[in-house]
Amino acid sequence: AEMRRLDATDELGDGPYVLIQLSDQTERMATDRMRTDFIANASHELRTPLASIIGYIETLQGHARDDAEARVHFLNTMSQQASRMQRLVEDLMSLSRIEMNAHTAPTTQCNLTDIVREVSDGIRPLAERRDATLDIDVEFEESAQVTADRDQLGQVFTNLIENALKYGGTGGTVHVSISPEDSRFPGMIGVSIKDNGPGIPRQHLHRLTERFYRVNAKQSKEQGGTGLGLAIVKHILARHAGELDIASVLEEGSTFTVWLPLRKLS
Ligand code: ADP
Repeated sequence: AEMRRLDATDELGDGPYVLIQLSDQTERMATDRMRTDFIANASHELRTPLASIIGYIETLQGHARDDAEARVHFLNTMSQQASRMQRLVEDLMSLSRIEMNAHTAPTTQCNLTDIVREVSDGIRPLAERRDATLDIDVEFEESAQVTADRDQLGQVFTNLIENALKYGGTGGTVHVSISPEDSRFPGMIGVSIKDNGPGIPRQHLHRLTERFYRVNAKQSKEQGGTGLGLAIVKHILARHAGELDIASVLEEGSTFTVWLPLRKLS
């Protein structure tokens, strides 16, 4: 808590009075702390690839100048690092856009099954490249009406399906389905994304949506991850009064379920 002492002299001259003002600063301090941590993490994530690009440029200007083979190799690595920075900047910009809109409710009436199928079609080539099966068990369902920001919801399903493909192991199967009603989420409709990968140890589950939190940093980076995908999902769902439910069984796989309030059909 913060204590402020205000000295004041009474009009009538029989002062001085001392006013002590108490206010709870705990919450503000936590928010400040989160913001500084976030900036520190983001800077660190950007600095690493940038340092490597600068290092390679110096090498190319120096002793590797006339080495054709080294040039090809270094340019490839630089291009990978630059793409990594680009993904990070794009995700950071998405997060800040979502935060800017956080207090305005989405207004577009959408059919959830439409959005899911559209997103899945876009991801199919990635599944094929990974030798994975993308099994979409979502038919157009008249009642699946939600009020949403269509692009943002698309981003939610993109991030979750891509994660299932990235972490589900090669040759895996990703199953996308509409979840039956659940007593924990009354009046909501669920979309589940289930993989048959290695699963996530229990102690990590509650932290997965934190910015830059990764179960295995090396694996995430190899997969081109920024560590921001699930933080973006969380922020978008908050704006939609939705929920993310994560269940995982080791050596069996993980299920991420998005719950959204159903629009009442009149
Ligand atoms: P990233 O860019 O690292 O993928 P995310 O925020 O999307 O960041 O995910 C955070 C972490 O959660 C990942 O690094 C990974 O460790 C874990 N994770 C996410 N989805 C899955 C999944 N389907 N199976 C196993 N681990 C997952």
